[in-house]
Amino acid sequence: MNDCLFCQIIEEKIPAERIYEDEHVVAFSDINPQAPLHVLVVPRHHIPTLNDLGPDNESLVGHMHVVAAQIAAERGVAQAGYRTLLNCNAQAGQTVFHLHLHLLGGRELGWPPG
Ligand code: AMP
Ligand code: ZN
Repeated sequence: MNDCLFCQIIEEKIPAERIYEDEHVVAFSDINPQAPLHVLVVPRHHIPTLNDLGPDNESLVGHMHVVAAQIAAERGVAQAGYRTLLNCNAQAGQTVFHLHLHLLGGRELGWPPG
């Protein structure tokens, strides 16, 4: 989608610190990191929110988590612990309406989240 920020990052029209990519997903550093490690894992295909997923997307969502776990291991936070999350719609604080998994690590993470 032309007006989607993350589509433009995926298409390299907007720069980002890319960490990983394959045929299904691109992972890049969050521009406003909330932890020492804050990476977004984003499907190449434009899907606005979790509410827009269907049965065909099950493997994609699983893959997003496998990629996050690989990045956590590579960045040295796997043993200490880290968090993955997806915000869905306004009340959860979603601001970019292209599905993205947050990977947060490198510090103590509070619970429950705000
Ligand atoms: P959410 O609030 O779950 O929709 O998360 C959107 C995330 O995208 C936020 O953590 C932002 O800091 C991040 N973000 C916004 N613009 C950019 C950008 N140009 N490059 C990387 N991350 C971004
Ligand atoms: Zn998009």
